[in-house]
Amino acid sequence: MAKSSAENHQPQSNPYIHEPNFNPIRHFIDTLLKCNNLDQIKQVHARIAIYGMFHNLIVINKLLYLYAYSRSLKDAHALFDVMKERDAVTWSVMIGGFAKVRDYFNCFKTFRDYIRSGLVPDNYTLPSVIRACRDDKCIRFGKLIHQISFKFGLESDEFIAAALVDMYANCDVIDDARQLFDKMPKRDLTTWTVMVSAFAKSGNPSESLVLFDSMIDEGFVLDKIAMVTVVNACAKTGAMNKARLVHDYLLWRNFSIDVILGSAIIDMFAKCGNVDYARVIFNGMNRKNVVTFSTMIAAYGYHGRGKEALDLFMLMLRSNVAPNGVTFVSLLYACSHGGLVEDGLRIFDSMSVDYSITPDVKHYTCMVDLLGRAGRVSEAFELIEKMTIEKDEGLFGALLGACRIHGEVELAEKAVKSLVEFDNRNPSHYVLLSNIYARAGKWREMAGIREVITRLKLKKVPGWTWVEVGNVVYRFGVGDWTHVESKRIYDKLRILGEKIELVGYVPNTDFVLHDVDEEVKVGMLYAHSEKLAIAFGLLSANEGSSPIRLTKNLRVCGDCHTFCKFVSRVERRVIVLRDAKRFHHFRDGVCSCGDYW
Ligand code: ZN
Ligand code: ZN
Repeated sequence: MAKSSAENHQPQSNPYIHEPNFNPIRHFIDTLLKCNNLDQIKQVHARIAIYGMFHNLIVINKLLYLYAYSRSLKDAHALFDVMKERDAVTWSVMIGGFAKVRDYFNCFKTFRDYIRSGLVPDNYTLPSVIRACRDDKCIRFGKLIHQISFKFGLESDEFIAAALVDMYANCDVIDDARQLFDKMPKRDLTTWTVMVSAFAKSGNPSESLVLFDSMIDEGFVLDKIAMVTVVNACAKTGAMNKARLVHDYLLWRNFSIDVILGSAIIDMFAKCGNVDYARVIFNGMNRKNVVTFSTMIAAYGYHGRGKEALDLFMLMLRSNVAPNGVTFVSLLYACSHGGLVEDGLRIFDSMSVDYSITPDVKHYTCMVDLLGRAGRVSEAFELIEKMTIEKDEGLFGALLGACRIHGEVELAEKAVKSLVEFDNRNPSHYVLLSNIYARAGKWREMAGIREVITRLKLKKVPGWTWVEVGNVVYRFGVGDWTHVESKRIYDKLRILGEKIELVGYVPNTDFVLHDVDEEVKVGMLYAHSEKLAIAFGLLSANEGSSPIRLTKNLRVCGDCHTFCKFVSRVERRVIVLRDAKRFHHFRDGVCSCGDYW
């Protein structure tokens, strides 16, 4: 249509032609920029046609851009198709337009046509396509674009390299992202933030914090987005000293603490083991919303302080902040880990009655956990059977966990049967069941499960423990010898072992053989990452009597748990261990979880 009107109308019919000094290009660009909606764009489009400006790429590219970015891709596409001449801007607008609405098929097709048209790609067109790969995680295509960038000598272009780093980071190809990042001659704040966040997401938050230090060394002033990323990374490592430094930086740079940043800080201090300081931050916030309250309630939950979680919930209601589904997950979790069974049951019922929130599978999971921990495992199972919504792995995982604590063999078998239907490659289910069989003395069944694990060649998630010494966060894997102090660490561990065995510690080798949640098959129980991290923490003399803070990405195994209790006694040191489930505060041979996790 556009084409025919352009051909049928001659410039003479244009009403502006008699104005002195009339510049049609500037006029149409200005008019287009003033458009607020699609109708107005179409009117200008018609006038451009009447004036016969279709040959002018500057005007038409702008028109195309407006169509593409006011989400009228159909009009953009139609216009693009009738354009006789196209330049790099034309192509990049079209490619970017498709990428923006996630029409990847047309995005890549257009890119292919662009390359075939013989034009040389540049730092306008390539980033649009690279960004499309990032969202769709089409890493294979992304690598191809990377090669094309390389071929045209554009790999080190600031914009293209930044887009590639971002793409690799989002597709979890962290090594490639880092390699490119290190080679970049100039890196902006956004690219740094991308790397910090990528390391945190890929299970290496300590590296994020190293990057944070480098950013400051290089003179960057971080913005709020970067700070939220750093705060979240710090929360993952559980590094208390680092958390304080990050917080000091926020104060020094005078950041306004809004609900997003504030909630992240609360979460950070809570996950670094200082829930009381998290509360101080909470109290100091001017504006608190449902996220702030839910984060603080969850914080009490990890620390097993159910009563305080409930009190805070009451305060939330009195402050006229309406709870949402997430608040109730935090609250039920807090009840479960605080042993508040009756409160949990009451809250679960009131969710739908008083707050019109239909419980989802996460709420049910908390309830299964709550009932299961309290020994009401068959009630937990009945609750699952009565559910009308879709069930998931976490739900049956909670049931299996309860079966493990209370030695419920039959229900454990049922739970594992359901779990395997979700994922038959996850070894931790089989291992838990084999532990349950072992405890019940069902050796034949146990052997059968071991066989399944071997036959399926199942691999576990690698276990990591982070410990903070000074202001540096160190990461330990099982049987780790990569640390420069390794020799001293293993010596210390041997001495510690002898010391605690004298006062009654017996290594529980069950966990060497069976607990795949932890570091299986590596043989030596003493090489578990938690133990290495503790030995290293004790070795650093200048730490004095401050608590040793550890963070583990998996659930702590029973033997390491016992080990921590003994070490806290003989070394007179508080050990704060955060595992995948909760916090354990070890003091004088006792753990705050009451051996219940
Ligand atoms: Zn262990
Ligand atoms: Zn514990």
